[in-house]
Amino acid sequence: MQLTITNLDKVYPNGVHAIKNVNLTISNGMFGLLGPNGAGKSSLMRTISTLQEADSGSVFLDDMDVLKDKDGVRRILGYLPQEFGVYPKVTALTMLDHIASLKGIANKKERKEVVEALLQKVNLWQHRNKNLGTYSGGMKQRFGIAQALLGNPKLIIVDEPTAGLDPTERNRFHNLLSEIGENTIVILSTHIVEDVTNLCENMAIICEGSVVAEGNPTELVKEVQGNIWEKSIEKSELDAYQAKYNVISTQLKAGKKEIHVWSDSQPDASFTEARATLEDVYFHHIAENSSVPI
Ligand code: ADP
Repeated sequence: MQLTITNLDKVYPNGVHAIKNVNLTISNGMFGLLGPNGAGKSSLMRTISTLQEADSGSVFLDDMDVLKDKDGVRRILGYLPQEFGVYPKVTALTMLDHIASLKGIANKKERKEVVEALLQKVNLWQHRNKNLGTYSGGMKQRFGIAQALLGNPKLIIVDEPTAGLDPTERNRFHNLLSEIGENTIVILSTHIVEDVTNLCENMAIICEGSVVAEGNPTELVKEVQGNIWEKSIEKSELDAYQAKYNVISTQLKAGKKEIHVWSDSQPDASFTEARATLEDVYFHHIAENSSVPI
């Protein structure tokens, strides 16, 4: 399958230009959409999920016109929104069964089999009869994935799935996502670089509504290797360094600041070449394309 987004554009009534002429081609597998808060990720995800209209442009899933054939899209879509509300006084088993009916699994026996298999898959089997209101953040997210997977979707969209999860829950969630079939497009929208590093074969970086980089994470890292220079400085020196160099990121290490600087050549003998990471790619593109300093 292939999702093809062409010249997509959206301005909200308040004047915010949330999606700016976005062009993306997304194939089967995990695709990471990475960008800071407010970049336009949710706007893009909601548009692809048929929850809101674009002003112009097109989105096709193979030959299905996503912006027009809303019912068609909903039949093959699994969506886990950023804010996933649950009915607090309903059990996971009852709720999933209900959603399965809504998704068109009419046969009771089939529904039972599908729901039970999913509860096992997301590791909520032993909690199936507990009310959703008693679930932890991680359990709610796994329940969210279970409902998104109902009905064998071909396009799965997960919006900021690991925000608020502890490291163990995040790990479990990653493992679960990586098990989703290979004949499915999974779009993972996130502001957490590590989520994309761990999971995605392809990715795009979005900043202020525009796609500013796109490709395979390893390739994107290779492209910046040689341009990233690091140095450990005193915290008090940071302003001076920011004024003199193109500092793309700073990190506190053992009470000192480790800065990463973007430069075509060694800024001076006190800098050493850093082993570039996806964070460097991300910070470089965001720094280059932000209208406000990061
Ligand atoms: P992200 O998901 O990357 O955090 P969003 O798509 O939520 O970004 O937001 C992109 C921009 O659009 C932000 O400036 C946000 O304030 C604005 N925005 C989002 N939803 C609406 C809306 N319904 N009406 C007006 N502005 C909105």
